[in-house]
Amino acid sequence: MLKILVYIHAPAQTPTKGQRELLALAASLGEAAVVLGDNADDAARAGLHGAGATAFYGAVTPEQLRGELIAPAVSLLVAAVRAAGADAVLLPNTMEGREIAARAAVRLDSGVITDAVAVDQELNVTKSVLAGSYTVRARITRGPALITLKANSVQPAEAQDSGAQVPPVQTLELGESGPAARITATAPHIASGRPELSEARFVVAGGRGVDGDFGPVEDLADALGAAVGASRAATDAGWIDHSAQVGQTGVTVSPQLYISAGISGAIQQKAGMQSAKYIVAINKDPDAPIFEIADLGIIGDLASVLPQAAAEIRRRQG
Ligand SMILES: Cc1cc2nc3c(=O)[nH]c(=O)nc-3n(C[C@H](O)[C@H](O)[C@H](O)COP(=O)(O)OP(=O)(O)OC[C@H]3O[C@@H](n4cnc5c(N)ncnc54)[C@H](O)[C@@H]3O)c2cc1C
Repeated sequence: MLKILVYIHAPAQTPTKGQRELLALAASLGEAAVVLGDNADDAARAGLHGAGATAFYGAVTPEQLRGELIAPAVSLLVAAVRAAGADAVLLPNTMEGREIAARAAVRLDSGVITDAVAVDQELNVTKSVLAGSYTVRARITRGPALITLKANSVQPAEAQDSGAQVPPVQTLELGESGPAARITATAPHIASGRPELSEARFVVAGGRGVDGDFGPVEDLADALGAAVGASRAATDAGWIDHSAQVGQTGVTVSPQLYISAGISGAIQQKAGMQSAKYIVAINKDPDAPIFEIADLGIIGDLASVLPQAAAEIRRRQG
């Protein structure tokens, strides 16, 4: 049976959807163990255990993980791979996940595959390349496979209370992590109340066409319970925070529904959203490239289309 490690950067009281997706994929491939990127109390571990984790690895000195950027996390992951004799490691396809995977692969003399959307029993990985223009299958030929999984690619594991004893954490020495950037201060992220963009099932995104006013985009997002995304033109203009940027140099999303409003559909934007299950595009230019990949295209002014859509959704919700 394959031994699969899942790297969980920030264990929460209840596992997030992204964490449950990683665990579901790991459990479908073999025995799923979790590497804890921070302290996880009994409740947090019970949640991960209920979602499929059969063992836990953590740091003897978790404060080291919190005090520096990713170097100690890499040391922990490498130590856990060796302790578990892991065949593969699954990580989130975030900036952090990809960087940790890359550094760990160098130390393990192995390989990394990013942007994965599926993995089979032989550890063949399906992924999209060249800004999403092609889907390819790839396989790591040497050492444990380090794979970063795109959000919303697999059905998340249901968190169940099995009543079974939660396995203890096997602690590992991190040793000297080498030159590392130190964290001198942190500030809590101000929660918008909307779902996390990279994990959201629905995304409403606005581009230059919103002309500075994200109000209609946000209103439709709230009617749908969606996250708000944006094109680079909109984030560069300062109309919305850079963390909302979807695309090659922003967040990659794979929601069930992506509503694109006032976005032309440049290749760098498509790279971050074209694996969405359904794409609805609203643009006043009938020749906009976004219509080439849209399941439903609406030629019109977003200032008029978005409020009508929000009103209709609220009416149907009663
Ligand atoms: C290296 C590199 C990396 C990049 N990374 C990214 C990235 O990660 N993400 C990203 O998005 N871009 C990225 N870009 C930029 C990208 O090339 C485009 O410039 C950008 O996506 C354009 O944003 P936009 O579609 O909002 O603006 P535009 O291309 O200006 O399109 C605006 C659209 O809005 C429509 N419109 C205008 N008014 C209305 C209205 N009232 N109602 C309806 N439609 C309207 C117009 O018809 C037009 O199609 C990158 C570029 C480079 C070179």
